[in-house]
Amino acid sequence: MSLIQVKNVSKIYQTGEVSVTALNGLSVTIGQTAFISFVGPSGSGKSTLLNLIGSLDKPTKGRVIVNDVDIATLNRTQSAAFRGSTIGFIFQNFNMIPVLTVYENVEYPLLMLKHNALDDHRERIFTLLDKVGMLDQKDKYPNQISGGQKQRVAVARALVTNPKIVLADEPTANLDHKTAFKVISIMHEMQKEFGTTFIFSTHDTKIVDEAEIIYTLEDGAIVNQEIKVNK
Ligand code: ADP
Repeated sequence: MSLIQVKNVSKIYQTGEVSVTALNGLSVTIGQTAFISFVGPSGSGKSTLLNLIGSLDKPTKGRVIVNDVDIATLNRTQSAAFRGSTIGFIFQNFNMIPVLTVYENVEYPLLMLKHNALDDHRERIFTLLDKVGMLDQKDKYPNQISGGQKQRVAVARALVTNPKIVLADEPTANLDHKTAFKVISIMHEMQKEFGTTFIFSTHDTKIVDEAEIIYTLEDGAIVNQEIKVNK
């Protein structure tokens, strides 16, 4: 069964008189695959596509079906609930909440999922922080840890609700080579352990090297698809 179906999707941003076609009739089907990368020049539509898959935005035309849900049919509350239960996000700029500790940042998505609050959430947060090597930093605030450490915390936070999909938009763009490598290997370990599908938008060849499927975007359409059979 396919996890994600993007069917003939266009996204047109209208700013005053100017309209920008960010996606132009794009179709892609994604199964339960480990690591998928969308690559392509800046402005080719990668972030727009991830935003649609993550139900942060709606297509102008076409359909985006994620885990059997047509995201265009969701209202704001339903979209938020869908994201909370199905999607984890990792951002280029880490997006830590500065007034919350490392532990509380990881806990935050669980608190948003009021109806699904996990009884064992403390244990889950401890386990995830341990797996990303940040348990001993759990009481620190984001301004007391490095960028690489923040991104490790972000990986734990993305996985805390046990989502089917993690969307990572340029997750290594603000990390040095060695730190990026470590964060990618942590994501890979987490993917193997939890069976989560990781979808990246990236320029980073270290991520592309790890990906099982690489889609190249140009002008809002997929122009190339590479599947690595031995991954
Ligand atoms: P990428 O992630 O590949 O750099 P984006 O999806 O961010 O590409 O952008 C695709 C195109 O859509 C670009 O031309 C960009 O300027 C435009 N775009 C993206 N978001 C908006 C927006 N909110 N309003 C207007 N134009 C946008």
